[in-house]
Amino acid sequence: MIYLDSAATTLRKPPAVAQAVAEAMEHCASLGRSGHSAARRASEVAYACREAAASLFGAQSEQVVFTFNATHGLNIAIRSLVSPGDRVVISGFEHNAVLRPLHALGADIVVAGRRLFDRADTLAAFDAAITPGTRAVVVTHVSNVFGYVLPIEEIAARCRERGVALIVDAAQSAGILPVSLSEWGADFIAMPGHKGLYGPQGTGLLLCAAPPKPLLFGGTGSLSELPDMPAFLPDVAEAGTHNVPGIAGLLAGISYLRRRTVAAVAAHETALLSRLCRALEPIAGLKVYRGVHQSGVVSVNLAGMDCEALAEAMAQQDVAVRAGLHCAPLAHASAGTLQTGTVRLSLCDFTTDAEVDAAAALLGKIGAPVKF
Ligand code: PLP
Repeated sequence: MIYLDSAATTLRKPPAVAQAVAEAMEHCASLGRSGHSAARRASEVAYACREAAASLFGAQSEQVVFTFNATHGLNIAIRSLVSPGDRVVISGFEHNAVLRPLHALGADIVVAGRRLFDRADTLAAFDAAITPGTRAVVVTHVSNVFGYVLPIEEIAARCRERGVALIVDAAQSAGILPVSLSEWGADFIAMPGHKGLYGPQGTGLLLCAAPPKPLLFGGTGSLSELPDMPAFLPDVAEAGTHNVPGIAGLLAGISYLRRRTVAAVAAHETALLSRLCRALEPIAGLKVYRGVHQSGVVSVNLAGMDCEALAEAMAQQDVAVRAGLHCAPLAHASAGTLQTGTVRLSLCDFTTDAEVDAAAALLGKIGAPVKF
């Protein structure tokens, strides 16, 4: 299979990830609950994972909270800072993992910046929207549909200057672009473990510079005599038994990245994206959504062919892509593709030149019989 759906989850992982999961299933018990060697081993794995993530993302290890996915972390962050009726500024490219929790809370949602790949427009819109009454900015670093890399450093600077809380959705950037809790001065950064960090599904991280409110209440193995959750990090946000095999796999994924370096991953994906787009752009009838600040994600539409049908035709040739709205109707509305959706091709560190060439050739072949 040619797998070009890494923006959903990375299927190709470093082999050490599966090995670490299997080893943890055999040797690790529940962390922080007992003093026996299997529990101690689990605690060591979790501690090492927090340390590795902290060093990659400019955080302290106790600021690293384990979550089930990015959505879980975003829900904790949003519930910690936002109350019903609060004014919250978001970008025009947010995923439903941001939109739906804010909507469920009854926040006053202000959408800022809807021009795709236009950083000047994004920044001007945030400048205007971050007014004195604004409670928080919740913003994606990279659009999961179009790969648009938003000017996050500049948005973070505006938030710092104006004393407005900042939550960053790093679902499409963690492990692929520089992400730093301390440099951005963000209150929370949420990320999945299963995309650019190459961990297993069911893992995620929430980096907390502000105190989170618990979303789940239950056992933590600490202060068990109290009816309340412990107030300290990370326990306050980690009720219940941890996904220790997942955390062990995530540690292996992050360790791979630290050796490889995020800069090398970024360079690989940038070069591959250019190669892919160079091959796609001459295909008649194929609209390629391309911009200057773009990660390894690209959306396309073929004139005269429904996006689901196109993705299905590719799947039949064993090329895996994703069609539709990608859980981000706002991004599609901003780009003018809400009615049609798009087909998204997304890369990872293990994608090869030969794979993108073959995918582009297939799109050319499928597109050839389409008449205008
Ligand atoms: N935010 C963005 C930008 C995403 O692309 C995704 C997943 O695709 C999410 C949030 C949710 O991530 P998860 O599936 O890990 O909850």
